[in-house]
Amino acid sequence: MIYEFYRTHIIKKKNLKFFLLTLFLFACSNNNVSERPNIIFIMSDDHAVPAVSSYDGFLSNVFKTPHLDRIGKEGAIFNNAFCTNSICTPARASVLTGKYSHVNGVYTLNEKISDSQNTFPKELQKTGYYTGMIGKWHLHTEPRGFDYWKVMIGQGLYHDPIYCEMGKGWSPDPEDGTGVKYNGYVTDINTDFAIDFLDNRPKDKPFMMMLHYKAPHDEWEHSEKYSSLFEEIDVPEPETLYDDYLTRGYGMYENTQKIGENHTFYEEETGHLLGKERKSAQYQTYIKKYLRCVASIDENIGRVLQYLDNNNLTKNTIVIYTSDQGFYLGEHGMYDKRFMYEESLQIPFLIRYPKKIKPGTVNNDVISNIDFAPTILDFAGNNIPKDIQGKSFKGFFENSKSLNWRQSLYYRYWMHGAHFNIPSHYGIRTKDFKLIYFYAKGLGYSHDKYYPTDNWVYKGNEIKDSEDYWEMYDLRNDPNELNNIYENSNYKEIKESLKKELFDLKKYYKDTDESFPELYSLTKKYSD
Ligand code: CA
Repeated sequence: MIYEFYRTHIIKKKNLKFFLLTLFLFACSNNNVSERPNIIFIMSDDHAVPAVSSYDGFLSNVFKTPHLDRIGKEGAIFNNAFCTNSICTPARASVLTGKYSHVNGVYTLNEKISDSQNTFPKELQKTGYYTGMIGKWHLHTEPRGFDYWKVMIGQGLYHDPIYCEMGKGWSPDPEDGTGVKYNGYVTDINTDFAIDFLDNRPKDKPFMMMLHYKAPHDEWEHSEKYSSLFEEIDVPEPETLYDDYLTRGYGMYENTQKIGENHTFYEEETGHLLGKERKSAQYQTYIKKYLRCVASIDENIGRVLQYLDNNNLTKNTIVIYTSDQGFYLGEHGMYDKRFMYEESLQIPFLIRYPKKIKPGTVNNDVISNIDFAPTILDFAGNNIPKDIQGKSFKGFFENSKSLNWRQSLYYRYWMHGAHFNIPSHYGIRTKDFKLIYFYAKGLGYSHDKYYPTDNWVYKGNEIKDSEDYWEMYDLRNDPNELNNIYENSNYKEIKESLKKELFDLKKYYKDTDESFPELYSLTKKYSD
């Protein structure tokens, strides 16, 4: 048609030069559209770094994740990726918005994300992407910014899960009849729906799909096909399974996420044992259940990667794999998350984009989940909204020396005392050190709506405030964070400089606590 137009109107006038120039410009603009990458953002729930074998952690000799490893080998692996608030719903809000909890308004499991919050899917949708969200949503409001969604609203179910689907009704309680039950195992079904999304997408647009797995969140129900995995062998124990918590603050002693002490899911099998024997037996039961769930994730990631290969999509599709936060796989004798210690702070982050990322790239810079949104927008050729707090790390794959990158991470956990008696805290992690301030105040965010704890005293709906304290670790000599050096005079200067940096970061991210006078007064001397 274009040729016809030019043949009759332009070439006839012998304006060949103009014809060729216009054709060239048309080809360029068309090429640009097709070059925008597709994006598949895959996020599991509570998937800790040692359960991804390419991270070479304490489980890597007995447990392999070849499909996950493939993403990193053909792309990049990040060794210092962290969450900014180690709990499910807030982590998801930070991923979507590129902002800290105190800015996007999702501090705990209870807050709703406002429809007015801007998110990277909304930005991509506005600029021509076909956007989809499949799997565990775990935010309390209807998904926005997606051309299609099919989601589990709350925790979802491992077997015969219930999904709500765009256009067929949404409810915060899908079991009220709004949702539809699908027979089978959740990780397999989630992947079936993801592949349906890819099959049914409009082929003339770039796509962005968020694929969120329920696994391996507790209580770790695995697929039948992995029942015999580790049946005959013991799984290695982490170095710190029998940690005695000496030198640490009361949060470590009083928390109730301890295997063999507070963790009573396996009483029938292990209840007759005592002390170390009980802890060891409960650890084996727990870790085997957990890894069997991860085995299904790895298998299903293989299906997604195979789909891309079969459909000639591998080269121009960014594939990201991460988790909403880290998790304790027996380290420090615990399971679950929340603390700013490495195991629950660190997240796996693997990214593949054959067009722009060199295979085998290894990165050790400090990135966090608020950086994902701007990085994805940057790769897509979008402008990054100015109010996003994270930064694009796309430059790491180009000329990293020119990238002026942060040297420290700010973290904050708000849910004082809720669920597992962990005091609220904030802190800073640099490459070599970590400083944590357990301020131990509810500030209106300690109310445990779901699981009232009887270990700490309530005042009204809130859990009572506790004594504040500090902890500090030298990660160079003490990567397991066993030796709290906060009172060690040899580190006095480093401690003061970390405090200054911490309160500078609080100012930078606008989390200055001035609206909480009971907390602000405790740290005023650092804030001024
Ligand atoms: Ca989670």
